[in-house]
Amino acid sequence: MKALIKAHGREGLWLQTAPVPDIGPDDVLIRINKTGICGTDIHIWNWDDWAKKTVPVPLITGHEFAGEIVELGRNVEGLNLGQRCSGEGHLIGKQSRQSRAGKFHLDPETRGIGVNEQGAFAEYLRLPSFNVVPLPDEISDDIGAILDPLGNAVHTALSFDLVGEDVLITGAGPIGIMAAAVARHAGARNVVITDINQDRLDLAAKVADVTPVNVTKTDLADVQARLKIMQGFDVGLEMSGNQVALDQMVEAMVMGGRIALLGIPPGKSPVDWSRIVFKAITLKGIYGREIFETWYKMIAMLQNGLDVSGIITHRFAVKDYAEGFAAMKSGKVVLDWRTT
Ligand code: NAD
Ligand code: ZN
Repeated sequence: MKALIKAHGREGLWLQTAPVPDIGPDDVLIRINKTGICGTDIHIWNWDDWAKKTVPVPLITGHEFAGEIVELGRNVEGLNLGQRCSGEGHLIGKQSRQSRAGKFHLDPETRGIGVNEQGAFAEYLRLPSFNVVPLPDEISDDIGAILDPLGNAVHTALSFDLVGEDVLITGAGPIGIMAAAVARHAGARNVVITDINQDRLDLAAKVADVTPVNVTKTDLADVQARLKIMQGFDVGLEMSGNQVALDQMVEAMVMGGRIALLGIPPGKSPVDWSRIVFKAITLKGIYGREIFETWYKMIAMLQNGLDVSGIITHRFAVKDYAEGFAAMKSGKVVLDWRTT
């Protein structure tokens, strides 16, 4: 089969052939239709320090996918051949206290497809049947291929009650923009999204009903005053991984505000803890998606009017993957594995 492989310990990914994976009794084999390119894949392409110490070579990359089941392991129940699906790319253990308590997303043994294990940028993917998420007919393969990052957005946005609240999102990357759409759908009063990149803010305004703020040009306090946000934002979703953005968020929060942190800072970064203490702010780190509650809520919202389709800015056949990786600068890219 064709696969996008980290074949060498240097910059790049290579479209090569690899054997179709053998499946075990509890696995399924999925024929991949579409995959999403993620910021993580860019790190792996660039072969930065994180990638060097995390990713084994060679490895089939990719973790955002939609496809259909073409083979079932002998123990697999409740799934069918030909069933369209996406799936949770975090492979969990079953031994930890957290897993045994049903908090699968908190399992410390978690391993990621396309990062630690063979991934989804291929014509076929082996996946434990436990991880499969069937796709209803009304969810296209394109959307199916971005449920992983939409799940990050949903997990973060639904961490705190948003109904009637003023929400600040820092970072208008694909996940921040989708989180804005989710916050709006979930009933927030105002949703403000900041970035330093005007193109991304323009995309945010196209995809979701939000107030975009370019913090290099506009004072956030002026926007707050205009929107009659008297005392500060109630809920913050940090989706940039940038220290300046977090500082600005803490400053803009109401006393007792709540912040969910998804963005990953590149290294250690200084935090003004006394500001957080005196503002009595609650911080929650977010990793991945809740397995499988996030998936359930996300699919339910998509079936009930949540529309994030505008976030997919580019589509390429897999042979043009290099162009696809380059286009990630301006949005979200889906690769098609079925057209040649
Ligand atoms: P992205 O890199 O595409 O978007 C980040 C955005 O933040 C960019 O548009 C950038 O211009 C903007 N930004 C930079 N400095 C800023 C500032 N001072 N103020 C406001 N915005 C600023 O990333 P993404 O794919 O949308 O993901 C969002 C974040 O979530 C990333 O940090 C990513 O690593 C992280 N992430 C975490 C998890 C998890 O499980 N915790 C999963 C996926 C992604
Ligand atoms: Zn991803």
